[in-house]
Amino acid sequence: MKKIAIVGGGITGLTAAYELNKISNLLPEPLEIKLFEKDLIPGGTFRTEKIDGFLIEGGPDSFELYKPAPLELARELGIEDQVIEANEEWHNTFLYINGKLQKIPEGLLGLVPQNLLSLAFCPYLSWKAKFRAATEFFIPPVAQSSEDLSIAEFYKKRFGGEVFENIAEALFGSIYACVPETISLKACWPRGIEMENQYGSLLRGMLKRRRELKKFKNQGKKAASMFKSFKEGMRQLIETLIKAIPKGTIVLKKKVKTIKYDYENKKYILIFENEEKYEAHACIVATAPSYATAEIVRDLDRAIADMLLRIPFASSATVSLAYKKNEFEHPLNGFGFLVPRKEKTTVKASSWSSIKFPGRAPEDGVLIRCFVGNAQEETIVYKSDEEILNAVLADLEKIMRVKTKPLFYRIYRWPNSMPQYTLGHTNRIKFIEEREKLYPGLFLVGNAYRGLGIGDCIVEGRNAAKKAVEQMRL
Ligand SMILES: Cc1cc2nc3c(=O)[nH]c(=O)nc-3n(C[C@H](O)[C@H](O)[C@H](O)COP(=O)(O)OP(=O)(O)OC[C@H]3O[C@@H](n4cnc5c(N)ncnc54)[C@H](O)[C@@H]3O)c2cc1C
Repeated sequence: MKKIAIVGGGITGLTAAYELNKISNLLPEPLEIKLFEKDLIPGGTFRTEKIDGFLIEGGPDSFELYKPAPLELARELGIEDQVIEANEEWHNTFLYINGKLQKIPEGLLGLVPQNLLSLAFCPYLSWKAKFRAATEFFIPPVAQSSEDLSIAEFYKKRFGGEVFENIAEALFGSIYACVPETISLKACWPRGIEMENQYGSLLRGMLKRRRELKKFKNQGKKAASMFKSFKEGMRQLIETLIKAIPKGTIVLKKKVKTIKYDYENKKYILIFENEEKYEAHACIVATAPSYATAEIVRDLDRAIADMLLRIPFASSATVSLAYKKNEFEHPLNGFGFLVPRKEKTTVKASSWSSIKFPGRAPEDGVLIRCFVGNAQEETIVYKSDEEILNAVLADLEKIMRVKTKPLFYRIYRWPNSMPQYTLGHTNRIKFIEEREKLYPGLFLVGNAYRGLGIGDCIVEGRNAAKKAVEQMRL
């Protein structure tokens, strides 16, 4: 019987196990599939917790509409009816800028301004900045001329420094917990390059998209919300996936120490912490972070391990705070706020969870979630709970004028957990992919390589499963 091993039981590894099982059922001779996870609970970064009627997400809280893989998976698993949309009625996001919360004009919410009117009426941009941003129509392509460009440099060249520092930096920062000056455009925002290539200008590309959206609306279709989740929280996807994977496949509390390759028998030998071994014809390494993966594959290929170590990670933490609604001083008239770095706050962004999605708080409750720490300010993540809480409460008082103490709070720390696709990232991944070819049936997948959203990880898991089976057939 052919054996396939998966290491790591986050969304990537679990999707790979699910897909492999589906394929195996169609084969004349089924495969032996084993997934080894070091923790007691599979699911990696997915943490949903229910406390006194509040539903708290410690890790991811949503998936994006424009990456279809999570929705497709939910449909396959029979939980499409459990998918919920972000509350479009309150689709405002604020920016804490110049000492107060100010609405981000709807047309500026995406990374590319959707219309010039939204720029013109933006109260925290100077006329010079507005004019400079409007000249984007006439800026010749800038991405083609360079091997790799940072998202900051690209954005500043196209729209000017002020729009970047006041708005785009906070948007990029909140998505990637990054310093945008260090982040690769090719790896993190290939859509920006595509739009430049296709339309010559991002504003022109956006205008075209708006026309299509208008047509869509004229046909009576409601534009779907950008963010989706599950009624019971993001772990509902994980729990359903686990149920769809045959019993005995997932082996918990099994930390892989090292992987070796037996060239003669063309088999991978997984060696666990307790020195037990497992042999497999193919091995999908879906462990994260990639510096941990480096240690596992060091005996197999030192060059891959060294390259993996060159992918940096940032630390952050989420702080969820539950309040009584009638004591909460802020109207919560939106999804939350972002803070540009020039404001120097500890809280980098806040998501007003009980507004964003239904069912996140009891009728008389309010739930908000704050993000602290990023690639340029990591020390906060390593402070005590009390210090983090006090810093967050002080910022909430300053930013939202909220003085009430929360009913309770939950802090989830993510030390060295957010991959940073820095300049040259695509070349590093190309190098790893080339080296991987030396080992038939070896696949390194997960959020450190080709995309860090849940949708990307699902695609990684599915693709690795398909390739592993193809490899078996050779
Ligand atoms: C706070 C936070 C918020 C986020 N929000 C969103 C969001 O809203 N939307 C979105 O799309 N994305 C979000 N992301 C990103 C997304 O959640 C992750 O990129 C994705 O879940 C990573 O999945 P993974 O399977 O690749 O890795 P992980 O979830 O990290 O899983 C890797 C698994 O490998 C296991 N492992 C490691 N070493 C070994 C070993 N030696 N042996 C056996 N097992 C091992 C680990 O225990 C873990 O279970 C967020 C991430 C964080 C941290």
